[in-house]
Amino acid sequence: MTEMVRPTLARDPLAGGNGYAYDDTGTPVLEVDNASKTYPGEPPVEALRGVSLSIGQGELVGIVGPSGSGKTSLLQLMGTLDRPTSGHVRITGLDVATMDDGDVAYLRATRIGFVFQQFFLSEHSSLLENVADGLLYAGVPVAQRRQEALEALELVGLAERQHARPTQLSGGQRQRVAIARALIGQPAIVLADEPTGNLDQATGKSILVLIEQLHQAGSTIVVITHDRAIAERMPRRVEILDGLIVADSGSDASADRRARTAFQGPVPGAQPEPSPGEYP
Ligand code: ADP
Ligand code: MG
Repeated sequence: MTEMVRPTLARDPLAGGNGYAYDDTGTPVLEVDNASKTYPGEPPVEALRGVSLSIGQGELVGIVGPSGSGKTSLLQLMGTLDRPTSGHVRITGLDVATMDDGDVAYLRATRIGFVFQQFFLSEHSSLLENVADGLLYAGVPVAQRRQEALEALELVGLAERQHARPTQLSGGQRQRVAIARALIGQPAIVLADEPTGNLDQATGKSILVLIEQLHQAGSTIVVITHDRAIAERMPRRVEILDGLIVADSGSDASADRRARTAFQGPVPGAQPEPSPGEYP
């Protein structure tokens, strides 16, 4: 029998147990360094044209731009779902360009959580199973996956619905499940692409409140949106236009300190999804 040489969590230099250990070196959680992305075609599409962005521990960043400006392309590079045509992407200091696809998948599984506009939940699985699947590729044993899934559901106020199926939930509740799945394993960063795009305004607002509570509790989160009003709520705002970053309000210096002293238990004030009509 040959031993697996794929790095495991125990051997991972940056992982403290399951996930990302906050280090004291000040390494940014995520760095995009002069990255471009050109999609082949006639003519080729230059979706990103030399983008640089550094995100520190504990930041909540809104990336805003109109449709077609390159937001999703940037999220795919930040999330290691795609590789830049040129330039570099580093996650917790590790350069994706130097890694093979297996190592990139491992890096993604252990350090990045995703939230999408369309939720992407499995309708045939319970909420608990959906959330536990967030740890499937991180090599975590099933009993621990279930335990952590329950804790993550608790964070978003849906623990008592653990055995329900996504089809039994409202849109806002489904997005809470997707957020729980993104949070499981305490990833270094959560990337959300138009997380309120499929929700009515009141429900969308409650999801933004949850994101803000998670940020206050120490999570590092990027919210991508075309909606300027959503971006205005974020402590740091980055504007993207025609594949270029045209404005960046700069890092929030207090975020890093908060991340290091983060309260690791349930999010203070996390409330179950309000029933329709609770908002004026
Ligand atoms: P946004 O999310 O801001 O709407 P995208 O990153 O999806 O922007 O798209 C940026 C540009 O790249 C657009 O012109 C889009 O048509 C183009 N684009 C996106 N994905 C692809 C692809 N897979 N192949 C070709 N062109 C693409
Ligand atoms: Mg998009």
